[in-house]
Amino acid sequence: MTLKQRPIESRGSKHSCEMPIVAERGPLRAAVAAARAGGKRIGLVPTMGALHAGHLSLVEASRKECDFTVVTIFVNPMQFGPGEDFDRYPRPLEADLAALARMEADLVFAPPQTEIYRPGCGTFVDPGPVALPLEGACRPGHFRGVATVVLKLFHLARPDAAYFGRKDFQQTVVVRRLVDDLDLEIEVRVCPTVREPDGLALSSRNAYLGPESRRKALVLSRSLRLARQLSEAGERSAAAVLEKMRQEFALLPEVRVEYIALVDPETLQPIERIVPGTVALVAAVVDGTRLIDNETILNS
Ligand code: AMP
Repeated sequence: MTLKQRPIESRGSKHSCEMPIVAERGPLRAAVAAARAGGKRIGLVPTMGALHAGHLSLVEASRKECDFTVVTIFVNPMQFGPGEDFDRYPRPLEADLAALARMEADLVFAPPQTEIYRPGCGTFVDPGPVALPLEGACRPGHFRGVATVVLKLFHLARPDAAYFGRKDFQQTVVVRRLVDDLDLEIEVRVCPTVREPDGLALSSRNAYLGPESRRKALVLSRSLRLARQLSEAGERSAAAVLEKMRQEFALLPEVRVEYIALVDPETLQPIERIVPGTVALVAAVVDGTRLIDNETILNS
């Protein structure tokens, strides 16, 4: 059932544990203003729903560090390109709300598209050079969509701190730049990637994978582990590590690599020598499902 079909509940209903669910900016702003007036520190966790333990770790971090945690669920059309999976993106709203109630989130903001992009809207955020390589090159316009919706959510929820997952490493760099460049007084908190015991990074898109595809998908985390082992053993040549990572992917020719990169963690520019902080990033399409992952391969 979509939120659009639930107008009464969406105007300020309560789930179990009395967790309000709001679909409009008015009640969101009012609830946050009341919390702030009570001296509470506000934490924001932006998501697209289809929640898993990775998302919930962000909620947990916010609950720990803040007094009032707002979770947003919004599948942002602007960050999907033509032919991407916007229409089929999973939207298990009831299960998401139940999980958030269990986590004791204080408020869920789950707006319809028209609440975020109102008729006539024409101002967007251009996130600059860190948005150009990697995901930006493969998904033109993606980070313009991300930066725009994140800025809008920041303005709507006015958080003191916002929580993002390391899983989307480039997104965290784009958001940090957004906050610095536009002088926002928001602490950006980045939480570690939550993985399955076998290394697969949790992702809402893992739901698209059957057992065989899921097995193939392990090549992403395996290649990152290999890169880390090589650098920890003393390899400093990026070309040598990239070659070994490519060889790992080459064992599964049906997995289509979009990029394998070793970059500076702030500029996201490719490096030649591995230094503490160097990040390896991979993106690949496994049986029609596009997956990304990353790791710092040498500790600072
Ligand atoms: P999404 O719903 O995919 O937009 O993700 C919402 C937030 O959850 C983003 O900040 C993601 O980086 C974060 N996230 C997604 N997967 C994971 C994971 N496996 N571990 C930690 N955070 C994650």
